[in-house]
Amino acid sequence: MSTRILDAKIPGGPLADKWDKHKIDNPLVAPGGNRRKLTIIVVGTGLAGGGAAATLGELGYNVLNFCIQDTPRRAHSVAAQGGINAAKNYQNDGDSTFRLFYDTIKGGDYRSREANVYRLAQLSAGIIDQSVAMGVPFAREYGGTLSNRSFGGVQVSRTFYARGQTGQQLLLGVYSALNRQVEAGTVRMFPRHEMLDLVIVEGRARGIIARDLVSGEVKRYAADAVVLATGGYSPVFYLSTNAVNSNATAIWRAHRRGALFSNPCYTQIHPTAVPHMGDYQSKLTLMSESLRNDGRVWVPKKPGDTRRPNEIPENERDYYLERRYPAFGNLVPRDIAARAAKVECDQDKHAYMSPYSVYLDFGDAIKRLGRDVVADRYGNLFAMYEEIIGDNPYEAPMMIYPAPHYTMGGLWVDYNLQSTIEGLFVAGEANFSDHGANRLGASALMQGLADGYFVVPRVVASYLAGAKLKPVSADHDAFKAVEDDVRRHTQRLLSIKGGRTVREIHWDLGRIMWDKVGMARNRAGLQEAITKIGQLRGQFWNDLALSGTDGDMNKQLEQANRLGDYLELGELMARDALMREESCGGHFRDEHQTEDGEARRDDANFCFVSAWEYTGENKEPVMHKEDLVFENVELKTRSYK
Ligand SMILES: Cc1cc2nc3c(=O)[nH]c(=O)nc-3n(C[C@H](O)[C@H](O)[C@H](O)COP(=O)(O)OP(=O)(O)OC[C@H]3O[C@@H](n4cnc5c(N)ncnc54)[C@H](O)[C@@H]3O)c2cc1C
Repeated sequence: MSTRILDAKIPGGPLADKWDKHKIDNPLVAPGGNRRKLTIIVVGTGLAGGGAAATLGELGYNVLNFCIQDTPRRAHSVAAQGGINAAKNYQNDGDSTFRLFYDTIKGGDYRSREANVYRLAQLSAGIIDQSVAMGVPFAREYGGTLSNRSFGGVQVSRTFYARGQTGQQLLLGVYSALNRQVEAGTVRMFPRHEMLDLVIVEGRARGIIARDLVSGEVKRYAADAVVLATGGYSPVFYLSTNAVNSNATAIWRAHRRGALFSNPCYTQIHPTAVPHMGDYQSKLTLMSESLRNDGRVWVPKKPGDTRRPNEIPENERDYYLERRYPAFGNLVPRDIAARAAKVECDQDKHAYMSPYSVYLDFGDAIKRLGRDVVADRYGNLFAMYEEIIGDNPYEAPMMIYPAPHYTMGGLWVDYNLQSTIEGLFVAGEANFSDHGANRLGASALMQGLADGYFVVPRVVASYLAGAKLKPVSADHDAFKAVEDDVRRHTQRLLSIKGGRTVREIHWDLGRIMWDKVGMARNRAGLQEAITKIGQLRGQFWNDLALSGTDGDMNKQLEQANRLGDYLELGELMARDALMREESCGGHFRDEHQTEDGEARRDDANFCFVSAWEYTGENKEPVMHKEDLVFENVELKTRSYK
């Protein structure tokens, strides 16, 4: 099979005019009866899915909205802590739409698409206006204006926040809008329903098969278009900062049906999580990047120094981020800060409690600002830390270490957020589109709401207006065939009756991913990962222990379904990392680094998006490409020094 070059369908004209022109050039669906007749499935109720479902409902479409939690407001977006970016320039510190665009392109190490990123920056200001109008309680200054703080990789303050609960407050806004539509009858909610497959009729996405997670019933749902907003898949590493329920199943099953998967090797390892303390853990807890506004990161200068932090005098501490990156200091982007922590720990310089931890110290901030100001900014994060570790961060520095956090890879989409399957749109963290090889802090919430509130409603309307779809019901043969596949898959899992639990196999996968496909990768390690994941997949299909049946609530079955997909996705991540013979953003190849240990990109050979095609179980996937064209920024070596 040969490599195809994908067309992202980027509209012509100057960068700043593309989106407005596109909105005018493309058809609309008239309000009233025309919209009511059209059904749109939205899978996901986070900021991207919930925002899209509420907006499409408000516009008058018939929306079916699915999630695996018991309520839409438990989507993983609820966990987001630090903030959301927007180019409002309230601080008058030099921010602008172009600067937000530029910072995001540079932050992503020049591996994202200019037109999408510019649109994101353009839409950012409207997100704040809409959220405020919905009552989201952003932090304010004394005079009433909205307050801002800084996040990594930028030199302006453009992050809007609600203490350390920004995701929760934004999601409550989405949830209120969604409930209004449920009441109005435009949105039907399907909580505790897991999409297990995509139904394609005559080349177009026309529905899904979902399992009712309470009764175990497998059901068919037909529609005119399908939107996947199912979030990220960091739990492929087993331990991550994501909710344990975050998963890849919806996008992976769509991939198996023909949707290409892009840049799977770009994963973000966040520099500041509570360190891993033991094998009993099922997840890691994030300490928001906002803490690096005031916290200073350091390790003891002397290798193997296990004194308590307060016993180490100032001149024996190495504030390594300030030393190595004087221009950005503690606010370097995540990929840089995470790797720098690894470099120190690899030299046996670390916090006292674990060889895999460094200090984040608020001593100076408390002296400068006072305890009350620090508590006002970060109080809930400090309380969370104290509950987990038992140390009081007002008195002793926090211990932190990098952890898998965000997946920049996802289903390939064009400018219209349409995948390679017509009628299948992908929004939020589930697509690959805006963050290149590294996402800047506070940009995921921005993308989720930009996609959900503004982009999906417009591009899906254009598709529906132009597609001239024939009516298709869930009685169509295609639905029966896919439902049969889902049932067969479930029976296959239940019939193994082996000896290893889902958790044991998932742990093994996580260890391989962290060791070989984690913060630093190399050829031999990646080849080893591919072999080992293949063997583990064999073990999964021959020795999995599952109890219960499919006719009831069965958590093990749910987890096994997701793990089966992770075992394929994990291998694709390793293949993609092996193919990409350069270092960029979160993808660091030991073979491709500068003399001082920084990432060495290869723009001549790798300035493209990879887009993998599924070719069958245990068969090698085929890679296609989208060439990245930069007309508005100059490709430079990323420097935060
Ligand atoms: C701890 C933490 C803190 C963060 N803090 C920030 C921050 O401060 N700022 C920022 O910009 N970003 C932050 N992020 C990233 C950000 O929270 C996420 O990228 C973003 O919320 C993802 O939103 P989403 O709508 O794409 O998906 P999600 O919020 O993950 O929602 C996914 C939805 O899909 C549903 N779903 C999944 N699979 C299926 C299926 N098969 N069938 C049915 N439904 C399904 C789920 O039930 C859920 O409703 C943080 C991430 C973490 C882990």
